Amino acid sequence: TERLVGGFRRTSDKLGENLGGLLGKAALDAETLDAIEEALIATDLGPATAGRIRHRLAGERFALGLTELRLREIVAEEIEAILAPVAVPLEIDAFPRPQVLLVIGVNGSGKTTTIAKVAHLLQEQDYSVMLVAGDTFRAAAIGQLKVWAERIDVPIIAGSEGSDAAGLVFEGVKQGTATGIDALIVDTAGRLQNKAGLMDELAKIRRVLGRLNPAAPHNVILVLDATTGQNALNQIEVFKETANVTGLVMTKLDGTARGGVLVAAAERFGLPIHAIGLGEGIDDLRPFDPREVARAIAG
Ligand code: GDP
Repeated sequence: TERLVGGFRRTSDKLGENLGGLLGKAALDAETLDAIEEALIATDLGPATAGRIRHRLAGERFALGLTELRLREIVAEEIEAILAPVAVPLEIDAFPRPQVLLVIGVNGSGKTTTIAKVAHLLQEQDYSVMLVAGDTFRAAAIGQLKVWAERIDVPIIAGSEGSDAAGLVFEGVKQGTATGIDALIVDTAGRLQNKAGLMDELAKIRRVLGRLNPAAPHNVILVLDATTGQNALNQIEVFKETANVTGLVMTKLDGTARGGVLVAAAERFGLPIHAIGLGEGIDDLRPFDPREVARAIAG
């Protein structure tokens, strides 16, 4: 919880700054409500969330004036209501094994690190994990994933730069099935600048997976960098239609002032958010409690 509160501190500070001067009024006139709504939007919470909080404020009476404490309470309650339905920890179904998790996201989003963290999270739950280095466009991505695999002691299927990702996935499922692996986590190339290329690549992986197991991939997880703010929302928009995203992981929520984007994403897309990244270490990816996160954001 302390990590969480610390991580969201800059966001909650920003909220406080944006709301400064709007408090203490007994009657919330339209002008004040407009200003509060704008302040919430400026905190990256998104127009829908801001509108929702405005509506709530408009319907309440503040006999002694709207105090900062009361406003933050209301903000926390509304954020919690938005986050509660989407805070869905990653589940590994009993059948079939291995469960295949495709991981997508633009370069730099924290995809490689997140794969290692998810693998570690599953290991802690006694699942056996195997990785596939399917981002074959970048030699660095392959190398980095190999380093993580060694560090957390999980097997990895990797080829050289430019090798066929679908072929590696095929090999992963084959070996994973033979060795009783529970979860196969597949890194993929996230080239948003080339949508057709990305779709072709994912379609090819899907074809191979479909031949081995019609239910695969079981999860398509999009990794997003919270520090990019509204850009993260655009990425969800694009990847949702090109890659059939089933869930999100938002990274770098430690120390950014743009943590409100987590709420905007939840409100706008309603996709499950499996976990949040609160640091660079292997233990820094955690499923989240909507109440705790809401309170950390609202301050
Ligand atoms: P990729 O290019 O998407 O595979 O991104 P990487 O996994 O290589 O991550 C890019 C950088 O972000 C690295 O320096 C990571 O250590 C860092 N990073 C990843 N997740 C987090 C996080 O939750 N918090 C912080 N502070 N840094 C992160």
